[in-house]
Amino acid sequence: MTSNETIWRATVLTLFPEMFPGPLGVSLAGKALASGLWALEARDIRDSATDRHRSVDDTPAGGGPGMVLRADVLAAAIDAADAVPDCVKDRPRLLMSPRGRPLTQSRVMELAAGLGPLIVCGRFEGVDQRVIAGRALEEVSIGDYVLSGGEIAALALIDACVRLLPGVMGKLASGADESFSDGLLEYPQYTRPQEFEGQPIPEILLSGDHAKVAAWRQAEAEALTRAKRPDLWAIKVNQKRPKSTTDG
Ligand code: SAM
Repeated sequence: MTSNETIWRATVLTLFPEMFPGPLGVSLAGKALASGLWALEARDIRDSATDRHRSVDDTPAGGGPGMVLRADVLAAAIDAADAVPDCVKDRPRLLMSPRGRPLTQSRVMELAAGLGPLIVCGRFEGVDQRVIAGRALEEVSIGDYVLSGGEIAALALIDACVRLLPGVMGKLASGADESFSDGLLEYPQYTRPQEFEGQPIPEILLSGDHAKVAAWRQAEAEALTRAKRPDLWAIKVNQKRPKSTTDG
């Protein structure tokens, strides 16, 4: 087992620590958590409130609907998490945010290869801009839609990282051959029965010819990506294109 100092650890700052580990407590991630392959600390932002009502939010400057998470309370919560004796220095500090850069598999791989991030979950209308700047928070989005809070986004990000940690998926599965790992969506998968509602498994997959299977899968992955994600396909094609002298 990995020692406590080097274990991948996610620290989550939230107003709802009871939402963690939630779905990360079951299946692969849950077993790995229980066996110490990774660690999770959910800290209540409200513990850093200073008034007797333990308030964490206030009305937006300039008016408008809703409330905003206060800079002083959130900054104190981040500083308190950073002051924990065994905490990793200089770890990525993420803020889940619909304004952030969309999360990609390559960013997930980078985060999984480190010692684990600190993740701030916003609520209400969001977070005071001064704490984003003052604590150098990297805004990360999980898609172009608005959730009620950052917790579900944080769970998604942690899940994507944890399954890549050594020992979590086991020998049978690996992240190397999945959607996005090569800039492509994954090829179609089949299993028994050999025929389902009149549809057989493509014959080539039953041929035992590994080279032909690999070529078929590559062609299918390319066709699927071209049809379903022209944005990804354009990047892939661009990467393959030899650099011309006019490219700069
Ligand atoms: N007023 C904000 C806006 O329009 O951008 C939305 C705030 S949302 C109701 C509350 C919190 O949910 C955000 O601060 C963020 O932490 C989280 N959140 C919402 N959508 C998200 C997304 N697509 N990705 C990551 N986090 C999200």
